[in-house]
Amino acid sequence: MSLIKKNILNIIDELEQNNSQKDSKVRLVAVSKGQGQEKILEALKSGHNIFGENYLQEAIDKQKSLTNYKIEWHFIGPIQSNKCKLIAENFSWVHSVDRIKVANKLNDSLQEKTLLNVCMQVNISNEDSKSGLNINEIDSLAKHINNLDKLTLRGLMAIPTNTSNDEILRNEYNQLKNIYEDLRKKYASIDTLSMGMSNDYLLAIENGANLVRIGSKIFGKRK
Ligand SMILES: *Cc1c(COP(=O)(O)O)cnc(C)c1O
Repeated sequence: MSLIKKNILNIIDELEQNNSQKDSKVRLVAVSKGQGQEKILEALKSGHNIFGENYLQEAIDKQKSLTNYKIEWHFIGPIQSNKCKLIAENFSWVHSVDRIKVANKLNDSLQEKTLLNVCMQVNISNEDSKSGLNINEIDSLAKHINNLDKLTLRGLMAIPTNTSNDEILRNEYNQLKNIYEDLRKKYASIDTLSMGMSNDYLLAIENGANLVRIGSKIFGKRK
């Protein structure tokens, strides 16, 4: 068995064992940014077909060489508004929507009857350098996205503070989990709390995440 396959199977097993949600499975997005296409093929061979990418051009190059496979592509990187059309056309999920302008442009780029799943990225760590909404902006963006006909509002995404201090991380996840539960009461389409990466995914799912984005723990170091 290849190492990548082993890694994926181990992680899926851990996600099942540690899932704190009664009503949903934890979904795994394999983050393939900075990884060669041969590694994506390895993951596909092990039965995994959900991939996340941060950089549009890199992603499109890979997508072009993988058209024979049925892949669900997630865009998880910062969004420049002039790239919205290509993002909308080439991904089925976007996790990093953080402003009205971007939401509008994604919506306007889509053809009749196509739908794009979106999460709002929240700047939970409150670091100025990070992209994402401030907590007090979430409600108005949610309302806006909910009124756009081609976007389906699926939930929230966050990248927590870069720390190994579990208390700080727990606190951030719980804040987000509470906001998520409130939103869920207002919008029936919301079912996704996207948090947890290679170093923190177990802690994230203990604290309510139901989608994790894992790169290096599956594929090894990035180029
Ligand atoms: C790179 C990246 C990941 C994956 O990070 P790993 O530490 O390699 O698991 C997840 N989410 C986002 C938004 C990223 O940019």
